Amino acid sequence: MYSADVLDLITSLEAKECDDCGKKEVEWASVKKGTVICSECFCFHSYLGPSVSYLRHLRKSAWDEEHIRLVHALNASNTNMIWESALYEGSTKFRKPEPQDPSHIKEQFVKEKYEKMTFQPKRGKDEDVENSLNRQLIACARSDFAHVTLR
Ligand SMILES: [Zn+2]
Repeated sequence: MYSADVLDLITSLEAKECDDCGKKEVEWASVKKGTVICSECFCFHSYLGPSVSYLRHLRKSAWDEEHIRLVHALNASNTNMIWESALYEGSTKFRKPEPQDPSHIKEQFVKEKYEKMTFQPKRGKDEDVENSLNRQLIACARSDFAHVTLR
């Protein structure tokens, strides 16, 4: 029912590691963030509600082809590094969870990352990252994904 290239996108996303904890069994995507996540992190995302994290199962959900293309495009451009910017700057006390970490560590990380947006670049603090984010948002807005991005 999907075109072959869409199936290829799904397969390539399944081969990634969880963008939140690094686990190798990715099953879900947070569509507007462009992140792919494991079934454990999915639980923590689902607590946040769809306005924070709009979730689709890579295989079991019925995808709009535009949405899976958006996830793939954002994921391929390492958008996750923007959501976790402070971790790379070393400007936060948090660390990225690892697959074997206990659930409460992962749950807190997901909440900080997606709901509180603790790790995103602060305005004016890091011009390069901010410009990179702006460039990506502008690129999305100009693309066919505009109605998805701006929803
Ligand atoms: Zn995970």
